[in-house]
Amino acid sequence: MGAVEPRYVALYRAGELERRAEALVARLSSCDICPRECGVNRLENGLGFCHSDRLAVVSTICSHYGEEPVISGSRGSGAVFFGNCNMRCVYCQNHQISQDYKAQQSKEVEPHTLAERMLYLQDELGCHNINFVSPSHFVPQLVQAVLEAVPLGLRLPLVYNTSSYDSIKSLKELDGIISIYLADLRYASNKCGRKFSQVVDYVERARAAIQEMYSQVGDLVVDDEGIAQRGLIVRHLVLPNRLAGSQDSLTWLVHEVSPAVTVSIMSQYFPAHRASRIPLLSRAISSAEYSEVARLVDELGLENGWVQEMGASGNYLPDFASEGDPFSPTVSKLK
Ligand code: SF4
Repeated sequence: MGAVEPRYVALYRAGELERRAEALVARLSSCDICPRECGVNRLENGLGFCHSDRLAVVSTICSHYGEEPVISGSRGSGAVFFGNCNMRCVYCQNHQISQDYKAQQSKEVEPHTLAERMLYLQDELGCHNINFVSPSHFVPQLVQAVLEAVPLGLRLPLVYNTSSYDSIKSLKELDGIISIYLADLRYASNKCGRKFSQVVDYVERARAAIQEMYSQVGDLVVDDEGIAQRGLIVRHLVLPNRLAGSQDSLTWLVHEVSPAVTVSIMSQYFPAHRASRIPLLSRAISSAEYSEVARLVDELGLENGWVQEMGASGNYLPDFASEGDPFSPTVSKLK
């Protein structure tokens, strides 16, 4: 358990957590929880782009060892894999749970059930944190569950593990609740975002979201055991044929966020889901592509974080049909 009491406990005692949960749930009646602003009434079973209504869809809960070392540690990260998504990546490795809406319907949970599962991850499995994976469309339900979990004894740091296609208004409601943002920086081109993830404004939205996250939690802070307690980690998945815009994205990060920001450079791309039918995305990255990004990290002076070893492609493919942790790890520290 984290040595320092997370700030969400003070927010709970002050009644602020309850106020935020109510404000967020009210917004579901004309949903603007993520940047798509569908305007559907999710309280009355209205479905927007994410195919999700009033209740959170929780596809898998497990102790997860496949995250960065500061997140997984020795006891695992308490992963809560939400179902459905507000993006539609053609290469999504989690497509079994993110894009098969019918299969996810049976996995809806009330807030108190999610709260009890978080306590299970903390007390029974001894995880280092609670790691909400793909939470952007379930921010109200996440805060409702935390509100229920605090009086039950939840004290772990909370990780918001996101594609970064997040609304600033929703992120502001998470200030003081989330300790660690684990944020993707996927594209530097909206053309790629539109073509491969059905998002027309990814670049400006994700960049604004990452700046907001950084303003809330700042640089990564770890405890005596090297486990993250607070801060931002930016993940960058290298795509073949420079489709991730690594040069543009990482340069932006250094200049507009901070050269001290912690990065996680990922080489694990695999043409999952529909990607094998798209020529530009139908292969793993090459050694030359990997070296180019590794060199760039060096040139830009990014010293904090990790670069995933080459050859990780395929090793990270999860199977959400099986029990337990669907993944496994291989990373090297930057310095
Ligand atoms: S959370 Fe879902 S319904 Fe709400 S705006 Fe985003 S995609 Fe639309």
